[in-house]
Amino acid sequence: MQVPSPFEYERASSVDEAIALLQRHGEGARLIAGGHSLLPLMKLRLASPEVLVDINALTDLQRIRVEADAVRIGAMVRHAELLASAVVGEHFRLLHEAEQVIADPAVRNRGTVGGSLCQADPAEDLSAAFGALRAEVVIRGAGGERVVPVRELVTGPYETVVAPDEILTEVRVPIRPGTGSSYRKVERRAGDWPIASAGAVVRLEGDTIAEVGIGLAAVGAAHSVVRGAEDAIRGRAADEESIELAAVRASEECSPTTDQRGPADYKRALVAELVRRVLRTAIARSRGEEA
Ligand SMILES: Cc1cc2nc3c(=O)[nH]c(=O)nc-3n(C[C@H](O)[C@H](O)[C@H](O)COP(=O)(O)OP(=O)(O)OC[C@H]3O[C@@H](n4cnc5c(N)ncnc54)[C@H](O)[C@@H]3O)c2cc1C
Repeated sequence: MQVPSPFEYERASSVDEAIALLQRHGEGARLIAGGHSLLPLMKLRLASPEVLVDINALTDLQRIRVEADAVRIGAMVRHAELLASAVVGEHFRLLHEAEQVIADPAVRNRGTVGGSLCQADPAEDLSAAFGALRAEVVIRGAGGERVVPVRELVTGPYETVVAPDEILTEVRVPIRPGTGSSYRKVERRAGDWPIASAGAVVRLEGDTIAEVGIGLAAVGAAHSVVRGAEDAIRGRAADEESIELAAVRASEECSPTTDQRGPADYKRALVAELVRRVLRTAIARSRGEEA
């Protein structure tokens, strides 16, 4: 039987209280959201927090709100709620497409947006999706709030810029009229982590790619995006030549490893094909050609 080390349990009733509890208990304390990443680690004793600070009562962090130019997604929004959100689907098709293939219903019903980003698993899909969208996260501590681009949130495998006494409260995704987006993942079986995933966001001016974001998961892309591939096609015609250029650049720019999910060369080939497909779909959607 897998049993975690003994721990104390505190239930926060506000963000300020959660921060105060983290401060009071010091580095031995950890937030718990859906628990789908932290609890398995605790059972394996790869993590042994002395205190768990439960943030499931923080209703402020469970909302999806639309502002004039952004959608604000609370950190405690569950994967399933993101998938069910009409406003998210209307503006950011790739978030719905990513959520359709993240884990399985049991995990999606409990796992949260904030927990997913803060776990910073190298195969995690939302960093790639929000990275392509150039979203920002709001991080709160005793000293106040700071806003950090998602592209700067993760500093390494399982490491982020969120300090032990801070809490990620919200993801802000800019609404850019005229963009099209798409997300695709290849997995060994339904509900599994990706072998490789790719997301693309494109805004056209006429037939020129004016803005582009390309995110990758599970293949060692720095900050889950491929800036070189983006730079290579920004300002170029939205045609097959540009798509091919980005696909090749992305496959060169990431650094997949050979593991139980396949050899590195295979993953590079997958990245190229996934980038081709998500870019084609994102471009078609930005032209209004594909719903
Ligand atoms: C079988 C299985 C398959 C999966 N497949 C996929 C997949 O295909 N793609 C994918 O992307 N993910 C996948 N996941 C991961 C899943 O998405 C995450 O487990 C889940 O979203 C993490 O969220 P949580 O709320 O459960 O986090 P928790 O386990 O509660 O927390 C994770 C970490 O984040 C910290 N944390 C949580 N919330 C905050 C916050 N607001 N501020 C600061 N720190 C915080 C915690 O302290 C902890 O260190 C899978 C998980 C399982 C179990």
